[in-house]
Amino acid sequence: MNPPRVTLVLPVFNERAVLPELWRRLAAVFAARGDCRWSAVFVDDGSSDGSADWLRTLGAADPRVRVVELSRNFGHQPALTAGLHAATGCDAVVTLDADLQDPPELIPEMIDAWRAGAGVVLAVRRSRREHGLRRLGFDSFHRVFASLTNLPVTANTGTFGLMDAQALVAFNALPERHRFFPGLRAWVGFRCAEVFYDRNDRFAGTPGQTLRRLVRYALDGIFSFSHIPLRIVTYMGLLVAGGGFAIGLFFVFRRLLGQEIAFTGFTTLVTLMMLIGGVQLVAIGVLGEYLGRVYEEVKRRPLYVLKEDARRP
Ligand code: UDP
Ligand code: MG
Repeated sequence: MNPPRVTLVLPVFNERAVLPELWRRLAAVFAARGDCRWSAVFVDDGSSDGSADWLRTLGAADPRVRVVELSRNFGHQPALTAGLHAATGCDAVVTLDADLQDPPELIPEMIDAWRAGAGVVLAVRRSRREHGLRRLGFDSFHRVFASLTNLPVTANTGTFGLMDAQALVAFNALPERHRFFPGLRAWVGFRCAEVFYDRNDRFAGTPGQTLRRLVRYALDGIFSFSHIPLRIVTYMGLLVAGGGFAIGLFFVFRRLLGQEIAFTGFTTLVTLMMLIGGVQLVAIGVLGEYLGRVYEEVKRRPLYVLKEDARRP
């Protein structure tokens, strides 16, 4: 039997300082493992630090390397998607970050799990390096996400993982623009295996994923996999309307019992107005989140544009 072909997909945005070390470690991992043919798709996501030049030179010297260049910075998910589209034709793809936070040394374990019959292998973080606000955000996101959707998304998984050819075809067939990778991967299904690792600090540089982008990514995850926020709005409306009804009844009965309805009122009125106004604005906001996403989807713009030929992907 031919040795299986494994393709690595790595989105790269301003990782010039990491790339030589990344390449050294990737090559070492596969040199120690002679039983598969490997190649790598590097997606340059509009880097401005010379990453693309370095990769192009590497690609010219090494036939295992393919460089896909995007026409500008599109973001982590579109870059990853571009890489997965380019990776078709192999027996398995491994998706990993280029900043060495996902240790390449875990890849053999993933390949073993795949060879043992899993269609999808998830790398689960035993520990995280993020602290403070970022850490709190990650932890509470996974909790909220689990309670709002019934997708079996394993907590503490990111993009690091392996998909076999079948899972890749199914994944690449997903047309949506707002992409939440762990959710989509869980949606695709197939037999899952897990391998565990400790997340490293990034080797060099700063995260290109700003906190704002991460928040947007988290909202994408929730709004594209759950309708529960809409239902919560309905319940909120019912609650406020019920409250209003109860207050109305209370005053009607007081009146009927001949009691005076004299109260100073200003504070109550202002509080009620703010409460109702707030609930309405939140409701519109939630609707807007869905509407905005629907709008993005119906425009059907491509998710990314390739530099070399500006072809529609
Ligand atoms: N990345 C990308 N485009 C971006 C931001 C990041 O392709 O606009 C890449 C980056 O080079 C890295 C991976 O996506 O390989 C994860 O990004 P980062 O380390 O900045 O995110 P974090 O680790 O904070 O999630
Ligand atoms: Mg990182």
